[in-house]
Amino acid sequence: MIPAAFEYVRAGSLDEALRLLAKYAEDAKVLAGGHSLLPAMKLRLAQPRVLIDIGRLSELNFVREDGGKIVLGALTTHREIEASPLLREKCPLLPEVAGHIGDVQVRNRGTIGGSLVHADPAADWPAPALALEAEMDIAGPKGKRTLPAAAFFVDMLQTALQPGEILTAIRVPTTPKSVAYEKFAQKASGFAICGVAVVVEGGSARIGVTGVAGKAYRASAAESALRGKFSASAIPAAAAKAGQGVEALSDIHASAEYRAHLAGVLARRALERALARA
Ligand code: FAD
Repeated sequence: MIPAAFEYVRAGSLDEALRLLAKYAEDAKVLAGGHSLLPAMKLRLAQPRVLIDIGRLSELNFVREDGGKIVLGALTTHREIEASPLLREKCPLLPEVAGHIGDVQVRNRGTIGGSLVHADPAADWPAPALALEAEMDIAGPKGKRTLPAAAFFVDMLQTALQPGEILTAIRVPTTPKSVAYEKFAQKASGFAICGVAVVVEGGSARIGVTGVAGKAYRASAAESALRGKFSASAIPAAAAKAGQGVEALSDIHASAEYRAHLAGVLARRALERALARA
């Protein structure tokens, strides 16, 4: 449980962090809340020679409205999201999801950006990121770019972020109140064995599922069954399709069959709750 030796550098600005990342290249890792990286280092699953601490960069810690969207700095903590009056009013799915993450200590330190970049298949944030069709703002040696969430998650623990790049912000739309997140958590850690985020809007639903497969996904078959004809009576048959079309994971916590089944059950509960809020 003791990490390999490493150098520690604290960046004073985003530009400095990008310069340091370019200087140390693959020897370095960015440190945000440290709640995924440090456990991985203690288990020697990650052995960066240099840690570039961006944790105190206030320029990456904010929640604001900008051009009709809500923008969250990558360093916004789970707890700040849970407590944000702006998000509760204009994008209530995010505070609801934040309240499901770990415990208070984890929520106080962990950041949305760190979680999205870590891309743990059992993390909560990828589900609402997909359901909200979030966009990821990225800064790197070649300048800035923005990627849709669907293109950001590549595989288990793998995103489209390139060497030298930093996730700077997440953009989400404002939504009606008809949203919900349902989660079946692993008891010890709180991580999702299955988590389903839904946004019901304009007679259709967008459904993001985490925990079931190697990466989070949109439950396309369930969405298609509801497209343009969302109603209480259509929910059960549509929701039952939420575990279809993916290769479900199997481990000591749950079999593949159980995870796929949970996706259907939690999708139905989330859709019914979102409908009740509409
Ligand atoms: P870090 O650990 O600092 O970094 C994670 C990775 O992302 C590293 O590779 C780092 O280099 C990289 N990185 C970080 N920020 C950026 C950035 N802006 N740009 C580029 N790269 C970056 N998560 C859940 O979703 N649900 C849970 O129920 C849950 N329970 C937990 C319980 C415990 C006991 C613990 C310790 C963690 C739990 N987590 C859970 C994980 C937690 O949410 C982490 O905070 C999160 O996964 C990582 O965020 P971080 O800010 O701590 O990132």
